[in-house]
Amino acid sequence: MGEIVYKTILRAFVLTLILWWVSRYIYSTETMWIIVGITYYFGLFLPGYYGYKRFVENNKETAESTLCTSCKHFSKNEVYCVLHDQFPTRNYLPCEGNDWEMTNEGDSD
Ligand code: SF4
Repeated sequence: MGEIVYKTILRAFVLTLILWWVSRYIYSTETMWIIVGITYYFGLFLPGYYGYKRFVENNKETAESTLCTSCKHFSKNEVYCVLHDQFPTRNYLPCEGNDWEMTNEGDSD
């Protein structure tokens, strides 16, 4: 997940520099805004969106069908074990089940 954010920030930086350079040669504000919109849509939004979809698909099994799924140390969005600072997979649990603690999800006060 962090990789997607990192690449998006890097892409935004590069695209902004390119757009800034291009803006010197385009004198119509409307045209420039159209170019900015199209560039950010295809250069930032779409790659980020498809990168996130790929990430969710690749980690679906880990997020839904491992012991970590029901552990309070598991961050589902990042598919990440906060306690061990590692990424569990279907075949690898950083704690081997020893540090598992029931999540508090679903508890009512
Ligand atoms: S403590 Fe163990 S069970 Fe819990 S998320 Fe981390 S690796 Fe998974």
